[in-house]
Amino acid sequence: MLALFAGLLAAPLGAAPLPDTINLPAERAAIGRFQDFDQRLQDIGWKLVRGNAGFCPRVIPAIGLQLQDAASYGRPDIARAALDLKGDFAVQTAAHGSPAALAGGFTRNREIVRLGRFDPNEWPSGKRMDWQRVARAHDHIDALLTEHGGIEVGFADGGAVRVQPVDVCATRFELMGEGEAAVADGARVVIGMDFPAFAYDDAMFAALVAHELAHNLLGHDAWLDRNGRAWGKVKRTEREADRLIPWLLANAGYEPHAAVRFMKEWGPRHSVRLLRLPTHDGWPKRARAIEEELPLIAALTAREGRADWAQHFRREIDPAQGQ
Ligand SMILES: [Zn+2]
Repeated sequence: MLALFAGLLAAPLGAAPLPDTINLPAERAAIGRFQDFDQRLQDIGWKLVRGNAGFCPRVIPAIGLQLQDAASYGRPDIARAALDLKGDFAVQTAAHGSPAALAGGFTRNREIVRLGRFDPNEWPSGKRMDWQRVARAHDHIDALLTEHGGIEVGFADGGAVRVQPVDVCATRFELMGEGEAAVADGARVVIGMDFPAFAYDDAMFAALVAHELAHNLLGHDAWLDRNGRAWGKVKRTEREADRLIPWLLANAGYEPHAAVRFMKEWGPRHSVRLLRLPTHDGWPKRARAIEEELPLIAALTAREGRADWAQHFRREIDPAQGQ
């Protein structure tokens, strides 16, 4: 997603050559803070999509690598100077426990010059704030993993690392540089840096990510597109997303009850705006609905070692409706 820091601290957008007044350490720190948040989101997102791969309707091979493209910054020249890059592409994150992280070598900001046979720096880009090119690079990685069962990434320092993928549920996680957004569009989960859950412990933060991921895994966006976004319909998808949270947490290795803790922490402080909308139940009811899932999850986990929501989760919508 857009990372809007580089160039915004010290220089107006569009100002010409790199002025001496640019504070590169401050730019680097601002980028680093964004990357710290992104790393946390990617680590937790990876655990969720990896742990639930056995139950997702669409699974893809993945290595857990996320790139950054200097062209996506407000001032690509400042970003390159701050990160000491000659080109535009570098490692953003390798999700904890992913093949990229286990392979080693994918250190933050290490410059990349080759994805398979292609150098993504050679693809055309906009002058600034171009987020399409990095999305294209991620699409390219996905295609290579699907077609060739692996990828070799080449670095500007002459090194190269070959990585084999594993299966994960098909969703990307993207951090927004500002705002309290937490949204799912069917293919992505997008979380704003100002969302309060960044201050929570990992399991509670994972509960927020899992709610958004649940919308994608249960096909809500497409279902609402087909069947209309009447309040009652949206409300049923919201209930399903809430109730699936503890299932997704359990399979990812988190304590399922963290979903209840999340709702009780976040709800009273932040759901006030939503309460005026008839699309969401009030937070006490939402916490209760999540809690009611826990006995079944505990029983299944004890019996089968996993919480198979593809088989045992009670739907509140007919997923085939409108097809
Ligand atoms: Zn929702």
